[in-house]
Amino acid sequence: MNWISNYVRPKINSLFSRREVPENLWTKCDACGTMLFHRDLSENLNVCSKCGHHMPITPRARFTALFDGGGFVEVAIPAPVADPLHFRDQKKYPDRLRSAQKQTGEREAMLVAEGEIGRTPIIAAAQDFGFMAGSMGMHVGNAILAAAERAVELKRPLVLFAAAGGARMQEGILSLMQMPRTTVAVEMLKEAGLPYVVVLTHPTTGGVTASYAMLGDVHIAEPNALICFAGPRVIEQTIREKLPEGFQRAEYLLDHGMLDRVTDRREMRSELITILRMLCNMPPAIHGELPPPGEGPQVETTPATRDPEPARAD
Ligand SMILES: [Zn+2]
Repeated sequence: MNWISNYVRPKINSLFSRREVPENLWTKCDACGTMLFHRDLSENLNVCSKCGHHMPITPRARFTALFDGGGFVEVAIPAPVADPLHFRDQKKYPDRLRSAQKQTGEREAMLVAEGEIGRTPIIAAAQDFGFMAGSMGMHVGNAILAAAERAVELKRPLVLFAAAGGARMQEGILSLMQMPRTTVAVEMLKEAGLPYVVVLTHPTTGGVTASYAMLGDVHIAEPNALICFAGPRVIEQTIREKLPEGFQRAEYLLDHGMLDRVTDRREMRSELITILRMLCNMPPAIHGELPPPGEGPQVETTPATRDPEPARAD
């Protein structure tokens, strides 16, 4: 045995490690271990082509894939007061913010944009789990308010992609105040009769689940996303019982009536187009590749390019 572990194994290991490729070109799937080439992976919207595992995706990459021709305009979000509590744990809060900004290249944990999907004008907001776990602070509150105000102003539906570890503890009570604040923002949409569709991505937890992420007209989740208020570990420790398989995952919540649909990220765009056009009382969308708005011929009503389904009478 000694000879195997001391001589053969290191020899084999060194043979393999020598052939290792630069790490940034390949990503290992967390679920099945397949090595995925970075370009294939980003073309596949960060979904494993082997097992369908959904990896995190940045709001910017999501919007580029979502909007027609990858074109969208960012909605301005008013900057909140910086570090009102002068919070400090192992690091100062402003230092944490700066390092998250450097890491992600984004200013904060939520991006809001306006544009068209399948020629359907919408406002979209997406939370960035890579930015301090997508935590809901004053900026996220401001972002949702800005998104709702813009949606009301332009009379467009709002699509929100939620992903969060909960409220931002560095902002204390001010982060918790974003729960009623964002609820009011959602209420503005309802009063204006505008659809509000929530896409829940892995993971959506804490105060976010307890406010704007669960107030949509339609709730769609990505496969196997963890969606909860308190996480399974906390519940297990509290009730001292083993939780059932798949508890608080998207499919489980769908079975128990908490969600309307579970949709693969690669199908999400067309699903959103269908749902939004239905809710907005618009004719079914044209299928196929579309040039960005304002470019190319207007293909709107030529019978050959119409959806095979009959248009609804409205
Ligand atoms: Zn996989």
